[in-house]
Amino acid sequence: MTEETLHEKQKKSFFRAEVLRGNISEYREALLTMPTGFSRWSQIQENQTKIKNYFKASDADWENWRWQMKNRITNTDVLKELLAIDETDLEDVIKTGSKYRWAISPYYLSLIDPAVKHDPVKMQCVPSINEYLDHDGYEDPMAEEYTSPVPAVTRRYADRLIVKVTNQCAMYCRHCQRRRAIGERDLATPRVELEEALEYISRNREVRDVLLTGGDGFMVDNKTIAWLLAELEAIPHVEIKRFGTRTPVTMPQRIDDELCRILSEHLPLYVNTHFNHPQEVTPRAREACFKLARTGVNLGNQTVLLKGVNNDPFVIRKLNQDLLKIMVKPYYIFHAKAVRGTAHFRTKVEEGIEIMEKLRGYTSGLAVPTFVVNAPLGRGKTPMLPEYLVSSGKDYIMIRTWENKIVRYEN
Ligand SMILES: *Cc1c(COP(=O)(O)O)cnc(C)c1O
Repeated sequence: MTEETLHEKQKKSFFRAEVLRGNISEYREALLTMPTGFSRWSQIQENQTKIKNYFKASDADWENWRWQMKNRITNTDVLKELLAIDETDLEDVIKTGSKYRWAISPYYLSLIDPAVKHDPVKMQCVPSINEYLDHDGYEDPMAEEYTSPVPAVTRRYADRLIVKVTNQCAMYCRHCQRRRAIGERDLATPRVELEEALEYISRNREVRDVLLTGGDGFMVDNKTIAWLLAELEAIPHVEIKRFGTRTPVTMPQRIDDELCRILSEHLPLYVNTHFNHPQEVTPRAREACFKLARTGVNLGNQTVLLKGVNNDPFVIRKLNQDLLKIMVKPYYIFHAKAVRGTAHFRTKVEEGIEIMEKLRGYTSGLAVPTFVVNAPLGRGKTPMLPEYLVSSGKDYIMIRTWENKIVRYEN
């Protein structure tokens, strides 16, 4: 190889880097005005001071998850005081609240920017009149009630299943797919039903993966968590345990020393959480996720694609990049299903595919989750992918690269 060609190659590499930079220049531009939990942290802290003053709470109260639970915001007087919401909106909250319950942890409320009418955090937690007005969709679109061999269990796959340990959450998502189960009251699953679930698992030896969720899997007390994990570990064919919890997003105070000690004693453990917008990825959420990671827990994220909240390729790209910064691996993006009361959030499946198209290649493969729709009647998660295989011949295929170049590939 002569010096000249090496020089030529390097020149081409410079040119190529220039093109690559161009590929993400629009994204980098968008980041300048995109609110994130990190960029907004000082404003969030101001909100927290205001909320603490309102409740006459100390810093120690704020950091105590029992305090956060006890002081969840559930009435419009407090909402009015803390969010500067106008009268008609408050009336809407009251109206919708008569049909679907709501509760917001003080911490999650502090993430809202009160100056923004359609704030992405507010949209997820403050009831909207659209919920009240929506009469379409299904109460149980996943037909969970047809895949429940014993009361607390949902089984849609051969080797793994869900156990619902409670119907309680720190915050009730306005897009919840299980709103029918949320009801009016917080209900821990009765001990006998948990015992029945454990017995079902031990009888079915092909079940090697058990997912504890709800509601929120971390909304039960530490003693029950320790008991469940020990019982599952005593079943020889259970290889891994998982939790589904939104507490790292909505109430990171839940991830306390005692919980982490218990979890560290029951590895291998996988925790999937539910961040939907970069504004939720805060220094406080990072503290909780790092703490879980240090106990040896593997962290994943399940995002729901929501119109007006995150149905934007750049918002999802930033979300996934920020999740990697806090040691959370983007795992799934869900298409929002037809749950009654959530029509205003629904996107087209094509939007999700377009978001995937704008992730692959444009950012770390680690930041690329799988986009799925839940097939009707509990037939399982089904991936929806951009098409990269264009056509195939006898000894070659035509492929489409992430930059949309069609190239021949010998096969
Ligand atoms: C999502 C889900 C699981 C877990 O699915 P993975 O693709 O393995 O993460 C298991 N059981 C049920 C009923 C589910 O809905």
